[in-house]
Amino acid sequence: MRNESLTPEALPESLAGFVPATTPETSKHADGTLVDKYGRHVTYIRLSITDRCDFRCTYCMAEEMTFLPRAQVLTLEECLRIVNTFVGLGVTKVRVTGGEPLVRHNAVWLMEQIARLDGLKELVITTNGSQLERYAAPLRDAGVKRINISLDTLRADRFKEITRVGDLAKVLRGIDAARATGFERLKLNAVMMRGRNDDEFIDLVQFAVDKGIDVSFIEEMPLGEIGHGRQETYFSTEEAIARLQTRFTLLPSAESSGGPARYWRIPDTQTRVGFISPHSHNFCDSCNRVRITAQGELYPCLGNNDAIRLLPLLRAHPTDDAPLRQAIMHTMGIKAKGHDFTGQMNAPQVVRFMSMTGG
Ligand code: SAM
Ligand code: SF4
Repeated sequence: MRNESLTPEALPESLAGFVPATTPETSKHADGTLVDKYGRHVTYIRLSITDRCDFRCTYCMAEEMTFLPRAQVLTLEECLRIVNTFVGLGVTKVRVTGGEPLVRHNAVWLMEQIARLDGLKELVITTNGSQLERYAAPLRDAGVKRINISLDTLRADRFKEITRVGDLAKVLRGIDAARATGFERLKLNAVMMRGRNDDEFIDLVQFAVDKGIDVSFIEEMPLGEIGHGRQETYFSTEEAIARLQTRFTLLPSAESSGGPARYWRIPDTQTRVGFISPHSHNFCDSCNRVRITAQGELYPCLGNNDAIRLLPLLRAHPTDDAPLRQAIMHTMGIKAKGHDFTGQMNAPQVVRFMSMTGG
């Protein structure tokens, strides 16, 4: 691995004005991995390959969205260059997300290329499932190991309300196609919303049990300005667990997928039930990830607006990855200690939508 100088003078022009808050010693650990100034190892990246989506989920997007012009979006080759550079810095897990990653033309090509990178252990994706009927087998053949599929409701009319345009039957067929294809693991993701789907948590878990897959419940996060007040719909993990316990036995599990979810097992089933609780259980101490948006911004923290723009760097140095590596290492120095969404539910603390940063 090359050992570039990390002095501010050595920063490329596109990072002008950016004051590195770190030194080489704090931004890159001796073992070759990325370490932030709080000692957290970054081994996982989430890459959004498009800001576009075929759904308009009410908690994620506004009804009218303006999407990025194509020239401002990373090409798939640029995506690969970024991932390759991170893998060279010790990243072992990549999640491809969006927007909806499977609406991006040639997304499967990118997965194939990423899966082949030396040093990468796990390639996973998050999808809304709308295209899975068609892409489950090609994704598995490309080397994708696990898929997270968003599913907030099992009722077709509600599904249409929540996604504004989605077709539940198509997503359910996509889930079955993925099950038939044989991924290592499939997981459903449901955003918890009081008055919108909280009466279905038990049904969603039963559905996961019947299908032999996992399910995670996510507390809604205040990302982007949307149509409803989030305080009204906020539903806590604690209350959800109590509700599920009226039907299921939940055994706490020490298992982890390396992420913020805390898991429970249902005895005599294949199913793990996870909770991602950015409000009630802040997971920042063990954060091991950074996010890259479709326009090439590197966000070291989901709950914070600090970012570095990688796209100008990539385009200014088409054949030299050293400036990109430097920028990545410097970004470790600005990774926030944590986020705090408390009291921020109605006014978005983070101005971008989840579809921008990637879930
Ligand atoms: N389109 C894909 C999907 O829906 O799975 C991938 C991108 S989506 C932004 C990733 C995940 O973020 C989804 O599981 C979605 O439910 C979740 N999400 C979006 N907005 C959210 C919010 N405000 N709070 C919590 N989760 C959110
Ligand atoms: Fe699209 Fe996923 Fe956001 Fe829904 S949650 S609008 S499917 S990006």
